[in-house]
Formats: sequence, structure tokens, C-alpha cells
Amino acid sequence: HALRGDLLLNGLETMLEENFVKQRQALIRSLISQRILRSSNVIRAMEAVPREKFILEEYRRSAYIDTPLPIGEGQTVSAPHMVAIMLEELDLKKGLNVLEIGAGSGYSAALMAEIVEPTVSDLNKGHVTSIERVPELINFARDNLKRTGYSDRVSIVFGDGTLGYPERSKEMLYDRIVVTAAAPHIPVYLRAQLNKNGIILVPVGDTFMQTLIKATKYEEKMEFREVCNCMFVPLIGEDGFRF
Ligand code: SAM
Repeated sequence: HALRGDLLLNGLETMLEENFVKQRQALIRSLISQRILRSSNVIRAMEAVPREKFILEEYRRSAYIDTPLPIGEGQTVSAPHMVAIMLEELDLKKGLNVLEIGAGSGYSAALMAEIVEPTVSDLNKGHVTSIERVPELINFARDNLKRTGYSDRVSIVFGDGTLGYPERSKEMLYDRIVVTAAAPHIPVYLRAQLNKNGIILVPVGDTFMQTLIKATKYEEKMEFREVCNCMFVPLIGEDGFRF
């Protein structure tokens, strides 16, 4: 009986997993038809990373609804279309180094890792470093990344991301910086830690509504572009919102 029970459970798990794969494919098709998803490397990453494994148990069946979902501590994992918009704007390539502010569930970090380093890890090339200020979420993100096989391509770091990653900023500038929380302005430390020809993406506005700003750093100047309107949880810290 125990054996039959196990077989039944295994069968059920396989069915659920196949269902998630189908739902993931349907969501990707929808984002492609809305012209939100356009690049083959972004599409491939969204196909590869199982969003359901970055979601709390009680919301898992909603993993492929195009909406933000609670991840505890008053925070959220962003909606898939918003993640797709950010990934497209970031213009990620193999070997680039990425700094993310706001690891949350670890989902967007896994997607970026999938593009900048599809295979092996190297701390100085094709690595994603993601900073998070809520200790409980550090564990959540690390567990999710471990279960999905991304822990050696993504480092989750505890701290105030409005300061960037000062421990490494002397030796390392980032090719891409993405802030996944609403900021009153582009944090100055992040500008300084961006490489030449680098791109930084930040939702800038008040705590209710923001504009996603894309800034590209050239020799002497920075060029700014407004991407779209968005709604993110606040970036809380020294050079962010102070509550
Ligand atoms: N990228 C995440 C994902 O894929 O699940 C979603 C991030 S959620 C919208 C924003 C996150 O930013 C929250 O987890 C929040 O705790 C974090 N955050 C806010 N202010 C921060 C700061 N100063 N430094 C680091 N993380 C911060």
C-alpha cells in the first residue's frame, strides 16, 4: 500500500509539473504576442526558470498569472510582464556582470544568471550579485536558487542596496545595475559603481507610482530614457526612502 501511495504521489507531482510547464509556455506566448518579450535570449531564460519554485506554497497555483505575488515581509515578486520589460531593456549578454538591488524571491536574479552565464560560475565574469535588506528574504531567495540550481551563478548579499556593494566596489564595476524597488532618484553610489557603457534601470517616483528610467553611462555623460510607468514596493535605505 505504501508503495502504491508513493507511486500515486509521484504521478500527481509529475502531472502538476507538466501543468506548470504548459502554463509557463502559454504566458510566454502571450508576452510575445503583446511584443513585451522580443529577444531570443530573454525568451529562452523565461522558458528555463520555473517561477512556481520562487513562489510561496499558498500562491503557487497562481505562479503563471501575470501579476505580482506576495513573498512575505510585505514584499512581492514582480509581475512577469514587468520582469520581461526590465530584462529586454537591460540588453544582457553572456559574460556581463550584474548587480541587482532587491533580491526578493531570487526569481529575476535567476533569469539574469541564465542569460549572462548559462553554464559555469566565475565571480568576476557573468555573475549576478543581488542585495536584499530583509534578512528573512535572504534565506527565501537562497533556498529558491539552491533548489533550482542557480546558487553558484548568483550571490545573495545582505545590506542596504542604495549604497551599492561597497565591499567590492573598489575592485569591481558592474555592466548592468537593476533596482527592483521604487526609488526617489537614481542612487548616487549606484551611478558610481556602473561600468563605462553600462546600463542602470531604476523605477523613479514616489512610493505609489513611478517611471522606469533607463540610464546609459558614456565617457563623460549619462543618457536617460523613460521606459514605462510602474508600481514597485519602496527602496528603503540611506539613499532611498527613509521611513
Ligand atoms: N527581484 C525580486 C524578485 O524577483 O522576487 C522582487 C523584488 S521586490 C519587488 C523588491 C525588494 O527590494 C524587496 O524584497 C525589498 O525588501 C527589497 N529592498 C527594498 N529596499 C532595499 C534596499 N535598500 N536594499 C536592498 N533591498 C531592498
